[in-house]
Amino acid sequence: MQVKDSHTAAATHALPSYLDPSHVGPWGIYLQQVDRVTPYLGSLARWVETLKRPKRILVVDVPIEMDDGTIAHFEGYRVQHNLSRGPGKGGVRFHQDVTLSEVMALSAWMSIKNAAVNVPYGGAKGGIRVDPKKLSTAELERLTRRYTSEIGLLIGPTKDIPAPDVNTNGQVMAWMMDTYSMNTGATATGVVTGKPIDLGGSLGRVEATGRGVFTVGVEAAKLTGLNLQGARVAVQGFGNVGGTAGKLFAEAGAKVVAVQDHTGTIFNNNGFDVPALLEHVGNTGGVGGFADSEVMDNADFWAVDCDILIPAALEGQITKDNAGQIKAKLVIEGANGPTTPEADDILTDKGVLVLPDVIANAGGVTVSYFEWVQDFSSFFWTEDEINARLVRIMQEAFAGVWAVAQEHKVSLRTATFIVACKRILHAREMRGLYP
Ligand code: NAD
Repeated sequence: MQVKDSHTAAATHALPSYLDPSHVGPWGIYLQQVDRVTPYLGSLARWVETLKRPKRILVVDVPIEMDDGTIAHFEGYRVQHNLSRGPGKGGVRFHQDVTLSEVMALSAWMSIKNAAVNVPYGGAKGGIRVDPKKLSTAELERLTRRYTSEIGLLIGPTKDIPAPDVNTNGQVMAWMMDTYSMNTGATATGVVTGKPIDLGGSLGRVEATGRGVFTVGVEAAKLTGLNLQGARVAVQGFGNVGGTAGKLFAEAGAKVVAVQDHTGTIFNNNGFDVPALLEHVGNTGGVGGFADSEVMDNADFWAVDCDILIPAALEGQITKDNAGQIKAKLVIEGANGPTTPEADDILTDKGVLVLPDVIANAGGVTVSYFEWVQDFSSFFWTEDEINARLVRIMQEAFAGVWAVAQEHKVSLRTATFIVACKRILHAREMRGLYP
C-alpha cells in the first residue's frame, strides 16, 4: 500500500538529487569525514543520517541594477545544516566559484566547529556566486541588501546569524544588519556578527580567527616539542585569517618565510617584516610587488622548507598532487576544507600533524558568540577580557580533542568530529523528533 511503501528503509534513505552520495567536491569530502567517525559514535550512530542532510537549503535569485543601467542576476544561497544545538551560525561568502555543494559543506563544517568549541549554535552558511572585485561599492551594497532581504525568511537574532567570510567584511555586515532592521521595523544588532565596533561589533573579532589559529598552533607546538623561536612559517592567503596568524607567529619569534595569495607567491629566507607586509597588502590588495622578497612560482609554495604551514585561503588547496612535497611538521588549517581526504592521508603517513579547520579556525565563531551575547545584554567587554576568554575556550577545546585522538589513536580531524558529532547527536536525541 502507498502509505506502507513510504515507510520502507529504501524510501526513508532515498536521497534528494543534490545529496547524491557519489557527489564529489566539498560536500562529498564532508560525507567521507562523517563516515570515518560513525564507528566511534556508539548508540548515537542511529541518528547519524541527520548529519548527512542539511536541514534547510534556500537558493535565491539576486537581481540588481548595475551602475550602467543594466540588470544583472546573481545566484545566492543560505543553508542551515543543523539546528539541534541552537540557532544557525556561519558566514557569508562572495566569490565567483561559490556553489551549492560548497555552501552545504561549509554549513556542515560550521555545525561541527560550533559543537567542537561548545558554543550554543547549529551550523549554517551563505554565499553569492559573484566576483565582488568587479562591482562598484554602490553595486555591492545593492547586492548585499537584496540578498539579505531574500534570505530574510531564514535569518534573525534567534534563528540564524550570518557573519563575514571570504570577500565580506564589517561594512557588508553593517548593510545586512540595516536591511534586516528596516525590514523588521526594529534595529536588530544581533542578526549578524563581525559588525563594525560602533554598530554593536565586538573588540577582538577581526583578529579572532587568526588568534585562534595561533593559539592551537602554540598548544600543538608545546605537545610536540616544536620551538616557535625561529620556526619557519609559510602562509597561503594573507587576508583576515592568514595575515593575523602570520603576525602573531612573527611576534612569538617565528619567521614567516613564504606567503601566497591571489596576486602571487613571495619568499624571504630570513623572514618577512610582517607589519610592513600587512601594510603593503592593505595599500595594494595583495602580497605581489612587496619590496623585500623574491618571487616564487605558485606551484613551488608547497615545497618550501618550513616547520609550520598555514593554508588560510580557499578549500581544496592541499591535494594528492602537492601533499607529498610538504616539509612542514605542523599544518594549521586556517581556511575551511583546505586539505582533501587523500592529501590528509598522505600527510598522516608522512608524520605531519594536521590541526583541522573545525577546531583550528573556530576562534572567529567563538568571538562572534561573544559579540552576539554582548549585543543581547547591550554591555560590552574589554579586548583583554575577550582575548582571555577566547584563548581559554580554544585551549580547552583543543585539549579535549587531543585527549580523544590519543584515546582512539585517530587523527585530530576524526577526534574533533567524534567530539562534535556526539554533542550534536546527543542534543538531537534529547530533543527527540517533532511531531
Ligand atoms: P580574506 O578575503 O580576508 O582573505 C582571503 C585570502 O585568500 C586573500 O589573501 C586572498 O588573496 C587569498 N586567495 C584567494 N584566492 C586565492 C588563490 N587562488 N590562491 C591563493 N590565495 C588566494 O578571507 P578570510 O576571512 O581570511 O578567509 C580565509 C579562509 O579562512 C576561508 O577559507 C574562510 O572560510 C576561512 N575562515 C575565515 C574566518 C573569518 O573569521 N574570517 C573564520 C573561519 C574560517
